[in-house]
Order: sequence, then C-alpha cells, then structure tokens
Amino acid sequence: MKLRLPSTIVLILFAVSPTLGRAADVYPKNLDIDVLHYVFELTLSDATNRINGVTSVQIRFLADGVETFELDLAGRNDDLETGMIVSAVGEIVDKPGSRKPLTMVRSVPPEQAELEFAHGADRLRIFLAEPALRGQVRRFRIQYHGTPDRGLIIGENMHGDRTFFSDNWPNWARNWLPTIDHPYEKATAEMVVTAPNHYQVISNGLLVEETNLAGDELTKAQTAAGMPDQEFRLTHWKQSVPIATWLFALGAARFAVDYYGEFDNKSLQTWVYVQDREKGFYDFAVPTKQAMQFFSDTIGPYAYEKLANVQSNSVGGGMEAATAIFYGDDSVTGERTVRWRNVIIHEIAHQWWGNTVTEADWDDVWLSEGFATYFTLLYREYAYGRDDFLEGLTADKQRIINFYAERPDYTIVHDNLDPIGRDTVTTGMMYQKGSWFLHMLRGMIGEDRFWSGIREYYRLYYNGNATTDDFREVMENTYEPAIDLTHFFSQWLNQGGFPNLRSDWDWDGANNELVIKLEQVDDDGYVFEMPIPIAITVPTRRGEGRGARPQALVREIIMRPGMSETRIELDREPTEVVFDPDHWVLMQMESNRR
Ligand SMILES: [Zn+2]
Repeated sequence: MKLRLPSTIVLILFAVSPTLGRAADVYPKNLDIDVLHYVFELTLSDATNRINGVTSVQIRFLADGVETFELDLAGRNDDLETGMIVSAVGEIVDKPGSRKPLTMVRSVPPEQAELEFAHGADRLRIFLAEPALRGQVRRFRIQYHGTPDRGLIIGENMHGDRTFFSDNWPNWARNWLPTIDHPYEKATAEMVVTAPNHYQVISNGLLVEETNLAGDELTKAQTAAGMPDQEFRLTHWKQSVPIATWLFALGAARFAVDYYGEFDNKSLQTWVYVQDREKGFYDFAVPTKQAMQFFSDTIGPYAYEKLANVQSNSVGGGMEAATAIFYGDDSVTGERTVRWRNVIIHEIAHQWWGNTVTEADWDDVWLSEGFATYFTLLYREYAYGRDDFLEGLTADKQRIINFYAERPDYTIVHDNLDPIGRDTVTTGMMYQKGSWFLHMLRGMIGEDRFWSGIREYYRLYYNGNATTDDFREVMENTYEPAIDLTHFFSQWLNQGGFPNLRSDWDWDGANNELVIKLEQVDDDGYVFEMPIPIAITVPTRRGEGRGARPQALVREIIMRPGMSETRIELDREPTEVVFDPDHWVLMQMESNRR
C-alpha cells in the first residue's frame, strides 16, 4: 500500500538534521588522476604459488604538474614470505601520431622509459620523468611477482583439485593487482592469464583469445612458472564496461562450462567443477535469466556483456564480481535449494546495485548490500508470491532486533570507517536494515514516487558512483512535488536504535471517537518519527441488510518521540485495531485494548 504524507509529517521531514562531525578519511581519494583502463597479465604455476605479473595502467591526469602518483599494491612480508616485489616500472612511449588504445602487448613488449618508484607497505609510488598536464592520458607498466597473502586464493577445492580464485572484497585486490583499490575508481580491464593447459580461466567481460602456446612464448611461460615440461594456454578476457576493483574476477580450475542461453543477446554461462557438471548445470540454469528480466524491467538495462555463475572456493556464500559471479564450493547441490536460489538472485541484483551503480566509498556500502537484499525480496514477491516476500522481510526484522539488542549505537552509513576491513565494512545490518529502509521508504512515499526515483537514480549513476546523499536527492526531486527526506534518511541510516512501541486503544462512546495512545518505550536513547498505517474494523450495523460485511478502514497515525494520543471519529465502536497490517514499518509494538 501507499502511505500518504499527512501535513504533520511533512513538517517533521523538513527539519534539518544536525551536521555530523566527520572523522578523517583513512583513504583519501586521489582526484588528480583517473584510471581509465588496466591490462593485467599474469602467469600461474603448479610448481609454486608465486605469480608473475605485468600490469599496464592507462591514466588520465586531472591536474597540471602532477609529478608522482600512488597505486595500491601489497608489499613483501618477509616473515610470511608473501606480498609482491616490483622489479620495474616504466612509462609506455607513444610513437608520434599513434593514438591507439591500450591493449595487451604480449609478444613485443612496448617501448618504455624506466621510471623511479618506491614500494612501501601497501603503496607503490611512481615518479614521472616529466610532470603531467591536465587532460593528458599516459600509460604505465609495472612488472612484479610474489605470493599473494590473500585476494587470490590458491589451493585445493572440495575435490582436491588445485584452483585459483580471486577474493578481492573489500580492499584485497591490492594483494595481487596494482590498482587504485577503492570503490570510487572504476575502470575497464583486461585479464590475460597464462596457466598450465589443464586450467580453464574465467574473468570479467568477453573472451577475446584462447591460445595453446608454442615456440618462444611457451618457453617463456615454462621458465616463468618453473615448469619446463608443461604445456601452457593463454586466456584473454576483456571487460569493456568500467567496474570497481573488488569486482575484478579471476578463476582458474578444471571447469565444466555450459553456455545455456542468452539474455538481451548476452551470453549466459555456468562454470562449475568438472566433477559437478550435471548438478551444477541444473542448479544454475534458474532463476538467472528470469531475475535479469525482472531487474531490467523494473530498474533499467543490464550494463554488461555476459553473465556467468561460477562455482569457486574463495567465497562462502556469493560474490557479485561483475559478469562472473562466484558461489561457494558447496553451492552445487543438484536440488536447486531455496537458500542458493536466493543467493543467486541477490548476486544478480548486485549487477545493478553495487556493480553498475557503485557506492562512492565503503561508508556507503548499504547502497550495494541493502539494495541487493531488498531487490532480492522484490523478485521473490514477483516470482514466488507475497508470502515468500513477507517471510524474508520478517526474518530480516528479527535479525535487526537481535543485532540492536547487542549494538544499539550501530549506524548503517559509516563516518569515515577506520580501519577498513572485511569485518568493519559490512555487518548484517547493511543487508537487512538497508533493505528494510528501502521498504519503509517505498511505503511512505508510495509506488509512483519510489519507482520513478529508483529508475532515475540508476539512469543518473549508471556505470558511476553515488553517495547516500545522491540517492536521497534523487528520491526527493524526481517526482513532483519535491519533498525533503533528510530527517527520514538520517534517523534510519545515521543514528542507531530500533523503535519499540507500546500502544493501547479505547472507545470513547460519548464522543464517538477511537482513542489511541502510543508511546516509544526505547531505552537506547534514539527516537523515531514515522507514519504508521492502522486498519480499523467496524462491525455491520443492524438493518444494513444481508451480506453486509464489517467495514475495514485504513488510517494512519504518527510515531513520535515520547507519548501521544490520537482521536479518530467513527460512527460506531470498532471491533479491532491493527497497527501496520501490511508490514511497512520496522518496529516492535505491543498493542492492547484498554
Ligand atoms: Zn551482497
């Protein structure tokens, strides 16, 4: 249902939220440079977990006089014998007049000028031979090797086969790829992998080349990998739509691959371990296409060039890597379980939310997880019915209640998170409370405003980045007349707490009024203001004729700080008063007739 905005709540919503004192950003963005494109060339081996890499990076300079810049790349840890060692950094010299886009340069290394560099703990600083000018596009090439501590998982899968799988979330790409390893920096990329020929290699985008190496190239691969008698294959994938670094994917394993269909002329693929071929092809064939259709219809067009569901041993649940979604080792059951079905829908929803429209910072990660969670529920409602939707919503609510009992001050939008890590960036609340927030927003502003805002937000930030404020402004202004949602956003996203309410109702026969008393009984120090729909049932009256039904009226009262009393005039005494009958409000309420 749509909840109308009564005039009282409009006034409340127009109140300005207090300015929050911001902590220092632990990852200052480098706004002097913009990465346009990466080419990651990697050699994988069975003789060692060491990888050999050459990364070419194409950068547009956004300021005059830039003399140096930094990439994220994990340094060597002598105790663990992990990390990356950089052997050379160069700038690719463009021949006069050549304006060729950067692409893989394999057989003939490009002409390059050696550059000075410094590689500290997790940062690679590159010194330019000549300062950059604003607008210049220049290309750099980094040669390195080492054993990844994390970020790229090299080990045995559940069948005892050796595999390689990326595991970049939230800032682990730097452990094996020199990048600007932050969600704000989106770029196109190529993954050019040389691996023993019993591996098949999956990555983002489209397959450009697969070649069994011969001659000098084979010798070079054998030497780099320390496997003199091994045959090697080169596999080259190209992602032509910009994405953030945590979405760069690499999987190398003995795969069975099913090209089972198309969506919007884009290939749909299943990649599972060869031992799981039959069950895996069955499991992943649905509901991928159906979910993509639903999200295209309701949000906007799918941004990418293919979609592969990939079994991997680098994740427990799922990881939404763009166009190559990873699912855990145990995701293949042959039974199309509800649990994994929901994971598939969630990761596909991420292709729209998180991947195409990306949070501008880790602080806003709910824009990815909360959206993916809510759009999973919306697909479930569409495909499996209202009960399935409500089941998900109710389960999420219980998790939020349990969480806030333990951590009442937890906020959904972070304030310059420190440290940035896997256990700090996300908690369940990014998913469940983020999702519930969107649900409440939809209930409060109504279907038309909600959906036109959602589509406009997707259109505006398509292949870009957005903050929570960007989202709020779109939801405020897309639909006429504009509304102010500052307070609504801040009370649910920038403060902790969970609304606990007590209400009772009574019939004032003298005045023909239903009297509702409502109290926020929170002891966590947070108060909420929000409309709550109520359903009032009044009985049939004598003489209304056979077949007359009890009347159900829908009204709305406002949840306010402290205690409030609302009087609603009715022509007869109600038999029942139900708060939030359609589950639009995140709250716990104890309700009685006085
Ligand atoms: Zn997710």
